[in-house]
Amino acid sequence: MADWPIGVFTSIDAGLGVKLEVAHELEIPTIQLHAPQRSTRTPENAEQFLLKLEEMGIELTAVFGGFEGESYADIPTVCKTVGLVPADTRAERLQEMKEISDFSRLLGCDVIALHLGFVPHDTTLALYSEVVEVTRILCDHASQNDQAVHLETGQETAESLLKFIADTQRENLFINFDPANMILYGTGQPIDALKQLGTLVRSVHCKDALWSQQPGESWGQEVPLGEGQVDIEAYLTTLKEIGYRGPLTIEREIPQEPERQRQEIQHAAGLLQSLRSKLLD
Ligand code: MG
Repeated sequence: MADWPIGVFTSIDAGLGVKLEVAHELEIPTIQLHAPQRSTRTPENAEQFLLKLEEMGIELTAVFGGFEGESYADIPTVCKTVGLVPADTRAERLQEMKEISDFSRLLGCDVIALHLGFVPHDTTLALYSEVVEVTRILCDHASQNDQAVHLETGQETAESLLKFIADTQRENLFINFDPANMILYGTGQPIDALKQLGTLVRSVHCKDALWSQQPGESWGQEVPLGEGQVDIEAYLTTLKEIGYRGPLTIEREIPQEPERQRQEIQHAAGLLQSLRSKLLD
């Protein structure tokens, strides 16, 4: 794979990504995939999907898990509903992530990723140790499938994330860095965070956003790439500095407006290509 291939976040029947056909039309060579629904995660479907990717000349670089009952309505709701943090659903979601890991292996994909949820900032709480433990179990399962686990950033500051990864003590635990999420959740300046996380960043989202008036309390606003406060050129310059050469995966979470989503992804791909030429060639 060439350095910094363009990518896009895609969905089959679940999640907020674009359809695979859009990646193909826009000649985007790599994708991340939102894991399809449980009933469709069969070996036959895996085989068909692989054939389709091969025909289209597209490489799958990560599979993202998501769960029934998650809601991103506002920040307090995210705390209560997202990822492996909520205790009520933890066991069944761990089981589902293991199944997603097994399905991803059928797709020949060596990265699974997820929003872990809001890890408590107070590391002396029992909940903190429980989240460390469930993450270890998931990493160990992924390891048997020769996979790494990437944590999507946003809910944690860079410092908290570094501490959490160190405490988990697993060699296949890394980061999917999303600069816009840091702004949306109000957890820190993305470029500074990226420098701190450095070589733990093994996949990235290219997404942009505007800060909220009350960072950390209400959402910022997701906007088309280049129109927000990430500073995309500084973002790519920093990725270059930390030695990241993997896919630049565009994420634009407006599936309710598919035509606009397609156009804005096309525009984002153009912007990333021109910055790649400027910074790498
Ligand atoms: Mg993201």
